[in-house]
Amino acid sequence: MEHITSTPTVKAPAERFTGDVCLNLIEAPAEPARLAVGLVRFTPGARTNWHSHVNGQILYITDGVGLVGTRDGNVVRAGAGETFKCPAGEEHWHGATDTNLMAHIAIVVGDDSGDGTTWLEPVTDEQYVAALATVEG
Ligand code: MN
Repeated sequence: MEHITSTPTVKAPAERFTGDVCLNLIEAPAEPARLAVGLVRFTPGARTNWHSHVNGQILYITDGVGLVGTRDGNVVRAGAGETFKCPAGEEHWHGATDTNLMAHIAIVVGDDSGDGTTWLEPVTDEQYVAALATVEG
C-alpha cells in the first residue's frame, strides 16, 4: 500500500481559471487506468473557464456552495454532498458562488495526451452574474 501523507497545494493557472483557486493533485493520469483525481477549492467568485472532458467528469462537492453551468444556459446550485456527472465532450464550467467558497473532488479518465480536458475561454462576469441570478431566483 502506498501512503501519501500530504499533497502540495498549488494555485490554479490564470489562463484556465478566474479568481483564486487552489489545486491538490491526488492522482495524476497514468497507464493503464488514466484516472486523474484532484481536490479543487474555489474562493467566492472564482470559477473555471469553459471546458470539456474527453471521457466526462465526476464532481463531488465537499464543502461550500457553488455553481455548475452548461452551454444551454442551465445552471445548477452545487452544495456539499452533491455529485455531478458531466458527459463526455459537454462544454461546462464550475465554481463558487459570489458569497461562498466551494470545494470539490474532480475525477476524470484521461487519454494519451493527459487528463483529456479541453480548455476554452473564461466565463465572463456577465455570464457569471446571470448564472448567480438563475440559482437565486
Ligand atoms: Mn469540468
